[in-house]
Formats: sequence, C-alpha cells, structure tokens
Amino acid sequence: MSRTAITGVRVFDGESLSEPTAVVIDGETISADTAVDSADVVIDGEGATLLPGFIDTHAHPRTREQLDAAARAGITTIFDLGSPDLDTVRALRAETGVPDLRSAGHVASGPGSMFIEKVGMPASTGVTGPDDAARFVADRKADGSDLIKIIIEDPKFPGSKPLDTATIAALVSAAHEAGYLTVAHVVSTFTLRQALDAGVDIVTHAALGGEPDDEARALIARNGTVIIPTLGMMHGIVETVGGRLLMKIIGALVPAARMDYRFAEATVRAFRDEGSRVLVGTDANDNANVPHQVPFGESLHDELGRLVAAGLTPVEALRGAGSAAADVYGLDDRGRIRAGLRADLVLVDGDPTDDISASRRIRGVWIGGARVVEVASAHR
Ligand SMILES: [Zn+2]
Repeated sequence: MSRTAITGVRVFDGESLSEPTAVVIDGETISADTAVDSADVVIDGEGATLLPGFIDTHAHPRTREQLDAAARAGITTIFDLGSPDLDTVRALRAETGVPDLRSAGHVASGPGSMFIEKVGMPASTGVTGPDDAARFVADRKADGSDLIKIIIEDPKFPGSKPLDTATIAALVSAAHEAGYLTVAHVVSTFTLRQALDAGVDIVTHAALGGEPDDEARALIARNGTVIIPTLGMMHGIVETVGGRLLMKIIGALVPAARMDYRFAEATVRAFRDEGSRVLVGTDANDNANVPHQVPFGESLHDELGRLVAAGLTPVEALRGAGSAAADVYGLDDRGRIRAGLRADLVLVDGDPTDDISASRRIRGVWIGGARVVEVASAHR
C-alpha cells in the first residue's frame, strides 16, 4: 500500500484548526501512524490547510465531466437530490476517481406537477394522497434510493400541483418507518411551515418571500430541522426569474411570491440561531427546465462564501460541507480528519477558517486515498 505524508500542515479536523502537524494517508484511509520516514510520497504542507473533503449535500449530476469538475473543486461526496434517469445515476455511481455519489432517485410530488411534466419524473412519482405514501417509499426502496426527497409546492404559486400537509406527513412517516431520511424542497414560508409540521428531517432552499416566524422558529428548535439553503441557486432565481415582468407583477400582488434574497440570508441566520445545522449544497444542475442552472465544482466555494456573507462564521460554513454534513447524512467514515477514516482530503493554500475564500486555493484532492488533483511533492 502506498503511503503519502503531508507535513507541516495545519489541519481543520472538522471542528477546529490544529498547529502544524503531519497527516499520513495509507491506502484508502488516514493512518494512525504519522511517521513520515516510511512514506513513499512527502508533500510539504507549510502555509497550507488540510480539510476533510467537501460534501455537496444537494446537486443533480448527469455526466462524468460534472463529477470531475466537482472533484477538482475538492468535493469528495455528492448527493443527488433528485434525478429522473436512474440508469444515468447507476452508471455514475460505478465510475472511479470521482466523488462518492448518493442519490434520492425519483422525487415525490403532486400528480401532474412540473417535476413530472417538465423535469421528467415518472407519472407514478405523483403521490395521490396519504394512502399512497407507503407505495411511493416502497418504490424508492426497490430503486435503491439512499434517501427520500419530497417536493412541497406552494398552492399560491402559479401552476403548482402541491402535495397537501396530510400527504407530506404520511410520506415522512413511511420514509422513517423504512429507515430513510427525508429532504423537502420548500419555496416559501408556508411550505417551510408544512415541512416543519410534518417532521421533515432536512429542508432545502431558503425562501425568498419571507423568513421563519416565531412559531416556525420554535418548531425548528424543537425538531432540530436541518437546512440546505442553496443560496447560490436562490440568488440565481432572483436574477433570472425575478427579473421577468410577469414575476414582478405576481410578486407585487402575492406577498408569498416576492423575491428578496435578504430573506434567504435571514432564514440561514434563523436556523443557525435556533441551534440547527446549516449544510452546504449547491443545487448544481444543467437542467434547462429548472429556473436556474448552477455549475458543478466552483459553486461549492460560491456557496461557502455566501453562507459567510449571510452571517455564518467560516468554521460554521466549513462544518456544513464536512462534519455536520456527515453527521446529518449518517456517514460516520468521513467528514473529519481522524485515523481510520476514509482519506477524503483537500489541501488548500492559506487558512479558510479565517478567510473563507482560501477554500478555492486548492493544491490537492484525495478521494478514498486516491489523488485526483496533483500537487507539488517529493517522491522517494
Ligand atoms: Zn435541486
């Protein structure tokens, strides 16, 4: 087994930053033995920081090239939160030298929703009522889905085909009974409240029409609801959809359809202040039928920067792409730098716990001990 030593490097172990030390990669894992002498490759880490590989908790990859772009940006695990094409997902999961891919597969939505009519989910993913929830979850189990994604549309939005609260609650209990985590797509304070009332584990997208009120905040605190805000996506929606005349008119008439990015930032702070975890998810996608396309890879660094601009500390933002993401998704073999864990690692110049923009200055990336980005090193 090949051994790689990174010396004189400060380590963000998933929680805090260490003094300069050595980390040794032995095969696929981080070694307990930090003796540099026995290493085949030695990398001088002076002035650099070693971090757990980034976890993108919300994306929609469809090609090998997208996964490569993610890997080059330091992403070592990526969650597909909804794909109409399971064959593509299976093929991507079989690729090597790319981020470890987990997938929700098909998403639950209202019958006839735009996710069925435009995004391409099968008609059977339309959940007809509470009695249909267990069937939907059983179908996902048969597909090999890793988690259950629920689309909660707002009935006040034009063209929506929303699931009702009872159906959402039935989906959550059926998913929990089958041992699944639930992630709900929410687009407004109303749909956030539906997700909270239904006991959803994770909500994704920080609403643009308002921030959580006191009752919602109490539910967030009580349930420990996690959020994946996808601030880059929300900002993109304001720029693209929000600029259209029709949406300006609707926004003026329907308060819930307002589009103000400041509400998304306030929502991030509300979850953080209620003691909940805020995870880093890009919503990277190339689907022309969703409101905004987000590029793979670089968008993770944009998201880290946006979370810090919204009020998180750099360490809180980094945890959201590392230890907190691993904890929420139940990945106990990664998300930290510790002997015995997967060698999913990112080496960057500078200190991103102080200046988040340093996360972009990548010198090396390892996925399960395999180097996917080259760095200057001394071979013995
Ligand atoms: Zn998405």
